[in-house]
Amino acid sequence: MEVKMPLMVILGGGESGVGAALLAKAKGYTVFLSDRGLLQETYRNMLLQHGIPFEEGQHTEEQILQAQEVVKSPGIPEKAAIIQKLRQKNIPVISEIELATRYTNARLIGITGSNGKTTTTLLTYHLLKTAGFNVGLAGNIGDSFARQVLENSFDFYVLELSSFQLDDMYRARMNVAILLNITPDHLDRYEYQFQNYTNSKFRILQNMTPDDTLIYYQEDPVISKELTDRQPAVQVRPVSLIGSPQPGAYLNDGLLVLADGHQPFQANMAELPLKGRHNAINMLAAISAAQAVGVGPEALHRGLMTFQNAPHRLEPAGEIKGVQFINDSKATNVDSVYYALESMTTPVIWIAGGLDKGNDYGQLAALVREKVKALICLGKDNQKLVSYFADRVPALFETQDVNEAVAKGLEWGKPGDTVLLSPACASFDLFRNYEDRGNRFKEAVKRIMN
Ligand code: ADP
Repeated sequence: MEVKMPLMVILGGGESGVGAALLAKAKGYTVFLSDRGLLQETYRNMLLQHGIPFEEGQHTEEQILQAQEVVKSPGIPEKAAIIQKLRQKNIPVISEIELATRYTNARLIGITGSNGKTTTTLLTYHLLKTAGFNVGLAGNIGDSFARQVLENSFDFYVLELSSFQLDDMYRARMNVAILLNITPDHLDRYEYQFQNYTNSKFRILQNMTPDDTLIYYQEDPVISKELTDRQPAVQVRPVSLIGSPQPGAYLNDGLLVLADGHQPFQANMAELPLKGRHNAINMLAAISAAQAVGVGPEALHRGLMTFQNAPHRLEPAGEIKGVQFINDSKATNVDSVYYALESMTTPVIWIAGGLDKGNDYGQLAALVREKVKALICLGKDNQKLVSYFADRVPALFETQDVNEAVAKGLEWGKPGDTVLLSPACASFDLFRNYEDRGNRFKEAVKRIMN
């Protein structure tokens, strides 16, 4: 008699969905993958190669609703019709991260926050790698966690966790968690309730025990209030730019200091590649996490010195006639622009704009008054930026062409000035995504340089 294995349905056929499908199949499930859009060819081929049935361009309900469990890609919102149907039938829905954690005994370092996740995740990974640890990098970044669990046997994983991934996590336990900051973002997915989004971020703490370590940015008012209310039973290691928590990690007169009693560590920020106060937070959090799993001071130092961040995050894009161009295309919300402007030490010609996600520009007013000599609005609809800043900047220009924005920046720039692309907005009005926007900005600069 043929025994029918339980059905695992995977919704979404991108990196995480296909990874989940491969892992579920290897663990003995009957697997069916369904994507309402079209699959990329590499993923389609992978499914074919492994004999995993799938559909694209539609969700066949009768089949999906047979599932014992569903793995949902983070991009699919709760309000999608198919998710609503699954909820009605009480079919459990999990994330690819949740699935993968069932099949690994590796120690997990999870990193979340509204801004700084990628930088901090890459840096933490780099610190463990530098120390010679057998470590994988996964989550919202690079190869899927599920596929790595299937194909590798890492002792540690550093995981970038978005709120969408956390929403579908239930039993996964982080041994070390980093909570960087919580500021309004993605509210359209949280019924426009900031508390819902906050709760989602705090799911990173569920299942942590007194043996586990929570690293968090102490000056974030949302995090500190929630921690006071929740009193989680974990070891806490605050990160501070103004205090000197012990145990904890803090910035003192340009020095990054790690003070947890047994292995004191210091590094001079001026000698390190990451700049700006936001990156001080990220570095303090990353060295705390690395130390919590046993990375020693020498490797911490070497790792900090040799780190190269991902592109589009305050990335130098070239210099023309003494004017610096900086690509911060990944700054898609107001908070990240705040830190970008704060880290500027020269007069700034600021390029901003795109799809506004409900921005409140008030937070930037003082920094803009102090540092910005001109604003170039690069978006289809610049109404909101223009009406807020028209009377607050000495000069303003509107365009929908990144080449023109760069040319204008150069025209207005004097030697020693900086032209900063830090949009505060999503990119989809004029570009494919933030990478496309950043790349086209860099190309425009290069074209003039040559
Ligand atoms: P995420 O993965 O959370 O989007 P990134 O590391 O990609 O974070 O950075 C996104 C943007 O936020 C960049 O513009 C970066 O300069 C800015 N940023 C980085 N770290 C922080 C932080 N700790 N607080 C606020 N903004 C930050």
